Amino acid sequence: MKAFQTESKRILDLMINSVYKNREIFLRELISNASDAIDKMYYKSLTDDDLTFNADDYYIKITTDSEARTLTIEDTGIGMNASDMESHLGIIANSGSFKFKNEAKIEDNHEIIGQFGVGFYSAFLVAKKVDVYSSLAGEATTNKWSSEGAEGYTLEQVDTELTGTKIVLTLKDNTEDESYDDFLQTHTLRRIIKKYSDFIRYPIKLDVTTSQLKEGSEDEYEEVTKEEIINSQIPIWKKNKSELTDEDYVNFYREKHFGFDQPLLHTHISVDGNVSYQAILYVPGSAPFDFHTPDYKKGLELYSSGVLIMDKCEDLVPDYFNFVKGIVDSEDLSLNISREVLQNDRQLTLIAKNLQTKIKNELAKLMKNDFDQYVSFFESFGRTLKFGVYSDFGANKEVLQDLLIFESSHEDKYTSLAAYVERMSESQEAIYYATGESKERIKKSPQAESLLDAGHEILYFTHDVDEFAIKMLMTYAEKPFKPAAEFKAEGDSKADEEANETFKDIFEAMGEKLEGKVSAVQASSRLKRHPVALGSKGEISIEMEKVMNAMPNGGDVQAEKVLEVNTNHEIFAALKAAQAGDESRFELLTHVLYNQARLIEGLDIEDPVGFAQNVSRLIV
Ligand code: ADP
Repeated sequence: MKAFQTESKRILDLMINSVYKNREIFLRELISNASDAIDKMYYKSLTDDDLTFNADDYYIKITTDSEARTLTIEDTGIGMNASDMESHLGIIANSGSFKFKNEAKIEDNHEIIGQFGVGFYSAFLVAKKVDVYSSLAGEATTNKWSSEGAEGYTLEQVDTELTGTKIVLTLKDNTEDESYDDFLQTHTLRRIIKKYSDFIRYPIKLDVTTSQLKEGSEDEYEEVTKEEIINSQIPIWKKNKSELTDEDYVNFYREKHFGFDQPLLHTHISVDGNVSYQAILYVPGSAPFDFHTPDYKKGLELYSSGVLIMDKCEDLVPDYFNFVKGIVDSEDLSLNISREVLQNDRQLTLIAKNLQTKIKNELAKLMKNDFDQYVSFFESFGRTLKFGVYSDFGANKEVLQDLLIFESSHEDKYTSLAAYVERMSESQEAIYYATGESKERIKKSPQAESLLDAGHEILYFTHDVDEFAIKMLMTYAEKPFKPAAEFKAEGDSKADEEANETFKDIFEAMGEKLEGKVSAVQASSRLKRHPVALGSKGEISIEMEKVMNAMPNGGDVQAEKVLEVNTNHEIFAALKAAQAGDESRFELLTHVLYNQARLIEGLDIEDPVGFAQNVSRLIV
């Protein structure tokens, strides 16, 4: 007996001891695996000249044995050899996701079963013993994998001849609360298959026994068993939208393992024209666990006339919509299309273009009709959209700008750029933004102070990519974006000019003390409560300096800094007094104020010990 890996053992334990109500999903999972296996076989037969194709050969068969209390699921798919079984059934494919989400609350979280792609292991929701017989297409041997639960499994070669895979479940013993015998009943199986697997494209066959009048008799009945195909077999995307319910779409999302959450929206597209195709697209309700890791791969399932030709066709969705899941089926694509050809395939490019427009419109519609939902979407995937604006030198900014939302000082809520512009007064020249670690911090910062006092709205930029994206946009509806720090209330410019003249000496003296740290010291009327603040000149803002220096290869980027001084503040009076009579105190104050401004901007202090000593010296 071989032991399961730790992760797998934990999941198995959960399955075995679960009180999960929705046990019946095990059948969806096993049928979905069977269908995938047939997809692979089917594709092979169509593209391999040595294999002949006979549609009758591809099916899923379900049988029961009431005496032995077994339920068997067979498929004529690609099968597995011993090493496949070892690596696919011995470990949990999605163990990473499991670990990530449920480490903390595994004991009580039975939701995981419904949410995660626990796939094959869900067999243990209903079975006390699972035997898998399988033979890999092209190989002569059949192997048997067998497990009675968390302890481990056995793997051996057997004599049985087999095409594909056969899974025999020995059902758990009935308890007072639960009759596992239900899963031996035709009507139960029929209901479950209809509910979750109706759109599986291969026939799901079930032996159905009915009582019928004996031939030639008028009152004698006999039991007749006939094989019936239970599912409609029409893939969901070929169906008419009007025939489908939201639940159908959600079931399909789950069956396909696109996500384990509730999709936020789905759209069903059917196009007849230059290029004909059907597609079903989903926006997940939350970011997949690996979304922010390099392991995450975008892409849609691609079918050619109902045959799966690619699991994840990357070319169908742009990077900035990489969160979209779904399938595309087109009769205009060749089966033998290779990845290299695909990239330049005109049809595929056209489809991708259409899908991009469709996704954009769906998101815009969501923003308009259900803003709260849109905010929830944006909290999961907004960053991706903002990167989309920024990357490729802004090539996609037109597509994306209307999908952006930012937190704003207007009612402290998210706003679109269009809504911001709509609220702008005639005299307001620019769309103002302020950057910082959090909304709360920005609100208290000197950069926001005078703008908020003047009653203008500020966009709060709290993500590293925000300012970069905006720099790429430059304007929205012909209004330029401006950092809040550049805002000048009426008369401020003039007042600053005068103050700069009046206090020229002291500013120069401060500038000398801060040689190499700031390029200028200036008066700033925008400061009200704060004595000093740090601003910047030129293309690189202080926030951008922070972001760029935090990147792995960021190097040493420096914003050109300006120390802004509030000449109406009492601190400035102290500064003046010191300059007149006490040179060393003047130097001390200048340094403390400069460092204070750095702190407020969220920058490090170059010499924290020195700063602390300076503050102490000021106290005594
Ligand atoms: P998932 O389907 O999410 O990958 P599963 O635990 O359901 O995870 O299955 C693990 C793997 O075992 C599958 O990816 C597949 O390679 C293999 N497998 C499962 N069932 C079958 C089957 N009926 N025929 C062939 N391979 C199968």
